[in-house]
Amino acid sequence: MRAIAIDRFGGPEVLDAREVAMPAVDAGQLRVRVAFAGVNYIDVYMRNGAYARSHTYETPLPMVLGMEGAGTVDAIGMDVQGFTIGERVAWCIVRGSYATYAAVPAWRCVPVPDDMALDVACALMLQGSTAHYLTHSAWRVRAGDVCVVHAGAGGVGQLLIQLAKLRGATVIATVGTPAKAVIARACGADHVILYRERDFRDDVMRITNGRGADVVYDSVGRDTIHASIRSLRTRGMCVMFGASSGQVEAIAPLELAEAGSVYFTRPHLADYMQDATQIRARAQDLFGAVKGGNLRVAIDRVFALADAAEAHRVLEGRASHGKLLLAT
Ligand code: NDP
Repeated sequence: MRAIAIDRFGGPEVLDAREVAMPAVDAGQLRVRVAFAGVNYIDVYMRNGAYARSHTYETPLPMVLGMEGAGTVDAIGMDVQGFTIGERVAWCIVRGSYATYAAVPAWRCVPVPDDMALDVACALMLQGSTAHYLTHSAWRVRAGDVCVVHAGAGGVGQLLIQLAKLRGATVIATVGTPAKAVIARACGADHVILYRERDFRDDVMRITNGRGADVVYDSVGRDTIHASIRSLRTRGMCVMFGASSGQVEAIAPLELAEAGSVYFTRPHLADYMQDATQIRARAQDLFGAVKGGNLRVAIDRVFALADAAEAHRVLEGRASHGKLLLAT
């Protein structure tokens, strides 16, 4: 079968399209004919070695990349119940979906409803589940909360704005370009800041009459984190969930105290998707919101599997406006 693998950490050029053996189906697993593989920022971290020491997201070399997919069940392992051959499923947080076939633990798979397209289901698994746990679990957004969402026109960003709005928040989004500002507004953001041109903290303080935000969702990391912490209200919450601009090496405890005794967390999605019950509950909410017309999934571009390196360049080059997929 065809797969995109890496033998060493590096830039997009290390992605190699090659023939590899079909995965075996172990007990507890489904083998899936992959229709779409999601391209996510975590693939960049796994490709460039940023997660080389992670225990949560292991990166043994060589490896097939890809942490999200959707397709049809092709083979069923021992001890698996509740799935049938040919059934449509979607999953995330399993390495190896940049391939025509993937072996996936059955407990990580959710059935895709008949009236939902596989590309949409795929797009909801990793970025959608992330936006879900950020607004429902890491910080439970309440009506009236002021939420700052960085990179608001991104894959996670667009879903995060919409879910925060559904929970009754006022959303302040930051974006890199005027075209992205239009997208963030269309998702429901109440205020949009071009953070490459302005000090977003000044704007957050002005918009909140000096109080600060209840929660800042920061996926940008190095370029924004200190201003994010200082944009919070007293005892607000900074959720730093990514590092698109570079990893943050340290936050001094006194910095949190001086910002108003604020809280800081750096979550992994895997810790909010620990069993089938959590995974299915989040998927059910997300699929239901899409079907009910309350959540819009923006699929920006679909690349051929062989063009995975180009998809990575687009993502890292800040040139994407929503979900990037590989059609396998
Ligand atoms: P995005 O679609 O959000 O793409 C990244 C965006 O980050 C860019 O489009 C850009 O938006 C912004 N950005 C700011 N500075 C830079 C920079 N120097 N280089 C590149 N991009 C920059 O990607 P995803 O939706 O896939 O992921 C968003 C973030 O969420 C990532 O950091 C990812 O690691 C994180 N994440 C974390 C999870 C978790 O559980 N911890 C799970 C899933 C995702 P703009 O031009 O508007 O600034």
